[in-house]
Amino acid sequence: MSHHKVIIIGSGPAGLTAGLYAARANLKPLLLEGLQPGGQLMTTTEVENFPGFPEGIQGPDLMDKMRDQVKRFGADARFETVTEVDFVKKPFKVVAEDKTYTADTVIISTGATAKYIGLESEMALLGHGVSACATCDGFFFRDRDIAIVGGGDTAMEEANFLTRFAKSVTIIHRKNTFRASKIMQERVLNNPKIKVIWDTVVEKVLGSKDTGVTGLQLKNLKTGEVKEFPTQGLFVAIGHKPNTEIFREQLELDAAGYIKVAPGTVDTNVPGVFACGDVQDHKYRQAITAAGTGCMAAMDAEKYLEAMEAKQEPCLPV
Ligand code: FAD
Ligand code: NAP
Repeated sequence: MSHHKVIIIGSGPAGLTAGLYAARANLKPLLLEGLQPGGQLMTTTEVENFPGFPEGIQGPDLMDKMRDQVKRFGADARFETVTEVDFVKKPFKVVAEDKTYTADTVIISTGATAKYIGLESEMALLGHGVSACATCDGFFFRDRDIAIVGGGDTAMEEANFLTRFAKSVTIIHRKNTFRASKIMQERVLNNPKIKVIWDTVVEKVLGSKDTGVTGLQLKNLKTGEVKEFPTQGLFVAIGHKPNTEIFREQLELDAAGYIKVAPGTVDTNVPGVFACGDVQDHKYRQAITAAGTGCMAAMDAEKYLEAMEAKQEPCLPV
C-alpha cells in the first residue's frame, strides 16, 4: 500500500491536465490511466478545435503531447485500472486490480464510453462488420457501402472520415434533424458520397460471422414501413455513457449516471473528491472543457490539501 496526496483516475484530456497542474504544484500525483490511455481522442483523427493547433492535430498526437508534458513535471503515470474505491473513510482508498493505494484527495476523470443500439444481432456481429470506432476500423471497409447510426458530431465526423475508404456512406437517423454542430452537418450534407435516411431506426443487423454484415432491417418511424437495406458495414455513433460504475455506491450520480458536482465547480458530494471532464459533463463534452475542468480539479485539490494541513487533520493511513 502506498499513500499519495493526489490520485487521479483516468488519462484523457481531463486527467492529464489535472496531472500537469498537480505535478507542477509539487503534489507528486499518481495517475492511473485505465484501459484507454489518452481517452476518447485516441479513437479520432483530426482535432480542429483545440486551441494552439491552427492546422489541426491528430487526436492521438495531441494526447501524446499532453502525456509528455505531464511526465516532464514528474507525474507517476501507471497503466492500471481502478476496480474499487472507498470514499467513506479518510484517507480515501483506491484499489487498482491487486494494488491498494490511499490518498488525501482523489480526482476522477474516467470519461465516457461508446453506447450501442442494444440489438442482439448488433452484438453478434461486433467486429464482423459492426463497429463503434471509424478510426480503428474504417480501413477495413475500403470500397464498401457502409451505414452509420447517429445524428451528433461523432456521427458526422465518422461519416466524413469513412468516405476516405468507403464507396458510399449512409447515415440512418431516428429524427429529421441532426443535433450536430452546423459546420459538421454542412460537411456531411455537402459530401456527395454521403446519403441520409431520416426518421428511421435499425431493427436488426443482417448477416453472419462468416459473411459479415450483409444488410440492415430498417423501420421508418413516421410511416411504419419496414425494409431491408443492403450494406457491408454498420458504424454505431450514438454517444457515450459515463464511466461511473465503480462510484455508484460512493458518490451522488444523476439519473444518466454522471457524477453530480456543485454548479460551477468540480466538487462532488464528498469533500476531497473532485470530478472533471466528461464523467461529470453531459452538456459540453469537449476536449477543451475536459482539460479546463481538469485544471480546476487540481487547483481545488491543492487548496483542499492546504486547508487540511492548516487544520492538521490526520491524513496518513494508520
Ligand atoms: P476520456 O477522454 O473519456 O478519458 C477517460 C479516461 O479514463 C481514459 O484514459 C480511461 O482509460 C480512463 N478510465 C476509465 N475508467 C477507468 C478506471 N476504472 N480506472 C482508471 N482509468 C479509467 N472533442 C473536441 O473538443 N474536439 C474533437 O474534435 C473531438 N472529437 C471527438 C471524436 C470522437 C470520435 C469522440 C468519441 C469524441 C470527440 N471529442 C472531441 C470529445 C472528447 O474526446 C471528450 O470530450 C474528451 O476526451 C473527454 O475527456 P475526459 O478526460 O473527460 O475523458
Ligand atoms: P451525442 O451528441 O449525444 O449524439 C448522439 C446521437 O445519437 C443523437 O443524434 C441521438 O439521437 C442518436 N442516438 C442516441 N441513442 C440512439 C439509439 N439508441 N438509436 C439511434 N440513435 C440514437 O453524441 P456524440 O455525437 O458522440 O457527441 C458527444 C460529444 O462529443 C458532443 O458534445 C459533441 O459535440 C462532441 N464531439 C465533438 C466533435 C467536434 O467538435 N469535432 C466531434 C465528435 C464529438 P437524437 O438526436 O434523436 O437524440
